[in-house]
Amino acid sequence: MEDKIRIIKLCSACLLGIKCRYDGKSRKNKKVLKLLKGDILIPVCPEQLGGLSTPREGAELKKGKVLTKSGKDITKTYFKGAKETLKIAKLLGVKNAVLKQRSPSCGSGQVKLLNGSVVKTDGVTTALLKKNGIKVISEEDL
Ligand code: SF4
Repeated sequence: MEDKIRIIKLCSACLLGIKCRYDGKSRKNKKVLKLLKGDILIPVCPEQLGGLSTPREGAELKKGKVLTKSGKDITKTYFKGAKETLKIAKLLGVKNAVLKQRSPSCGSGQVKLLNGSVVKTDGVTTALLKKNGIKVISEEDL
């Protein structure tokens, strides 16, 4: 019997149960875990890849920058994490990603601000991946 071809996809590590979120928790998602039966999911956390610690201060996108709750500019760190994530995608020839909706890094068409409101834009990593031809969907699109 022939083996089924398994597609390699990047996946927000927090969706797979890795405790990498700013609050030190995960956001394990049943639909994402179910995907593992057919696809190969590579866990990535762009914020950790950029060099941020866990737990860390919450942050938001503001006028093209990323600022923490206390006002620290961490834009460069976010962009570093996005580039490192893209590097992983290129190394593995990955063309698809499932990323956490509304995160300032991983959000896909929606990003949450610190006051809880949602703006229509991509997170920093999602934007870079899309720019490089990688199809990004959120766990809510599954
Ligand atoms: Fe999850 Fe992405 Fe935030 Fe990391 S950067 S905790 S993978 S949403």
